[in-house]
Amino acid sequence: MEKGKIGVTTENIFPIIKKFLYSDHEIFLRELISNAVDATQKLKTLANTGEFKGELGDLTVRVDLDKKKGTLTITDQGIGMSEAEVKKYINQIALSSAEDFLEKYKNQSNAIIGHFGLGFYSAFMVSKKVEVITKSYIETEKAVKWECDGSPEYSLEDTNKETRGTQIILHIDKDSKEFLEENKINQLLNKYCKFLPVEIGFGKQKEWKDGKEVELDKDKIINNPNPLWTQKPADLKDEDYGKFYNELYPMGEEPLFNIHLNVDYPFNLTGILYFPKIKNNIDIQRNKIQLYCNQVFVTDSVEGIVPEFLTLLHGIIDSPDIPLNVSRSYLQSDSNVKKISSHITKKVADRLAEIFKNDREQFEKKWDNLKLFIEYGMVSEEKFYEKAQKFALLKNTEGKYFTFEEYEKLIKENQTDKNKNLVYLYTSDKDAQYSFIDAARSKGYDVLIMDGQLDTHYINHLEQKFKDSRFVRVDADVADKLIEKEENKEIKLSSEQRERLTPVFRGQLPDKANFIVQFEGLSETESPLVITQSEFMRRMKDMSALGGGMNFYGELPDSYNLVINGNHPLILKINEDLEKKSLDEILKIEEKIKPLESNKADLEKANKDKKDEEVKQEDKDRIQDLEKKIKEFKDKKQEVLNKFGKKNKQVKQLIDLALLANNMLKGEELSKFVKRSIELL
Ligand code: ADP
Repeated sequence: MEKGKIGVTTENIFPIIKKFLYSDHEIFLRELISNAVDATQKLKTLANTGEFKGELGDLTVRVDLDKKKGTLTITDQGIGMSEAEVKKYINQIALSSAEDFLEKYKNQSNAIIGHFGLGFYSAFMVSKKVEVITKSYIETEKAVKWECDGSPEYSLEDTNKETRGTQIILHIDKDSKEFLEENKINQLLNKYCKFLPVEIGFGKQKEWKDGKEVELDKDKIINNPNPLWTQKPADLKDEDYGKFYNELYPMGEEPLFNIHLNVDYPFNLTGILYFPKIKNNIDIQRNKIQLYCNQVFVTDSVEGIVPEFLTLLHGIIDSPDIPLNVSRSYLQSDSNVKKISSHITKKVADRLAEIFKNDREQFEKKWDNLKLFIEYGMVSEEKFYEKAQKFALLKNTEGKYFTFEEYEKLIKENQTDKNKNLVYLYTSDKDAQYSFIDAARSKGYDVLIMDGQLDTHYINHLEQKFKDSRFVRVDADVADKLIEKEENKEIKLSSEQRERLTPVFRGQLPDKANFIVQFEGLSETESPLVITQSEFMRRMKDMSALGGGMNFYGELPDSYNLVINGNHPLILKINEDLEKKSLDEILKIEEKIKPLESNKADLEKANKDKKDEEVKQEDKDRIQDLEKKIKEFKDKKQEVLNKFGKKNKQVKQLIDLALLANNMLKGEELSKFVKRSIELL
């Protein structure tokens, strides 16, 4: 028997290993099983090249628990190690790499967790003693047993082992007892080893016989050594992908599409990505993408490895070219990772383009569930936008879908304004904005549905991309004005009549919001009164509500336009009524204002070129006096008009109807409206 000291300078390397890797002890199992799988794969390679001529036989890697003895054993039938190899790989290389690793990450225990690099020595995170019993595939080499109890001292001796391969016996430490539980080991195997390329046996298969469960003499294999992503896409059917999705996410809802990644140049990348049904909440991603390195599970937090919008996808990415034993920030700046990430983006876009081309009907059916994902990609990744603009769809209020190009053609003729801008009309709420949609459609306009949670951003983005185009929400103006054409309709009401009617309506408006009252010469078939909200102001408010940082706009009170249709019979009738009842009185007041105003104008004209101090005090007083008097009469006129407006039930009724069309009539006002409507009937 040989005794020696492991070539380490740090006397207390094992306590350090334990301490540093404290929160992620469980990876030891992945490390040891990976080694066993590697040794098995190497043997297969040697057999293929003819260097190994013996029988391969059963190559299953076995995991065994012995609770009584307190051991967990991993046995493989791979290449094994000779005495010289144990000395070299276990004593020197394995340990020195462990030492390097610790030196490098001394101050960042987080960086270590969940990453490769510690290999064989991670066994000491959970063991008080480790035995390695191994026999090389080279028959002339004798079997050896290496043993180490966690101190820097090891022993190495010849032993009896007839069969080829390596057995690692872990004597589990008392503070790691959980790793002697069958459930725990099952759970770890399921997490890390589910798709390893060599069969892993843990326990025996069981069967029900005469009402009793009996163990069979067959290993229970816990992994699928040929997962779908390692197979050729041409050999696979849709249902295979569906089944595999269930294998990955047993609770998951059926995905929309899948993409099979299969690249070997300029880097190695395989995998299958699934498009889940995304309804509305971006934050929900229960089924995360899992990252594998040669079929070994590494992590399911892929932020920084794939573009953010792709983290909404589900599935597997497997690549030996992603550096794993490094920190996340390093990962994000790694050029390989960047290449991989942009490659995945490209593949995803290509696949969508292909589905669109081959089966547009299916694509349209799934669009509503796919839309958020595609819009997210288009807004955040320029490269993705370039490809997606050919298959991204716009949906109108009739439920029809169009590509950008198709839609432009559709609206070009009728929705180009006098400045040659193409106007895209949209609604953010089909029900609430119904009357506006209806008005726009009766003018022959098409209206898009833009009610997704990303649509405010998306619209801004499209406006930057589309040439000479604008998006306008249907309720931004009256239908006649949404798209300004050359011809301007005349207004039947004269400017005096309009001036008088303004306070008649203004007096009856709710005072919670700001209203600008304006007259337009619209067609008789348009509504008599319409309340609109400027596209610009509304968008600024929307953006600041989304956290765009434009708080100034966010704090402004809501501001609306009350547009009075100066050609509508009902408005003309109100005007007639006003003239019948109050014109005499108003004219009398206006008669009085006229001389006062011309008087004031004369005085101002006479003093026009003088500086303030040169104007005679007498004149100043006179002007002030005139102003006061004018105001008094004007107030009086206003009062008369207000009174008329208040008495005239139609004024209030029309205003309420306009408010109602905007969902702005609520509570007491709504119930008053209902009562008044019945009275009027
Ligand atoms: P790594 O696997 O990263 O090389 P490890 O510390 O896990 O580092 O292992 C060091 C070396 O020990 C391996 O490269 C391999 O040569 C040898 N080794 C470990 N486990 C086995 C095994 N089960 N069978 C054969 N050789 C092994």
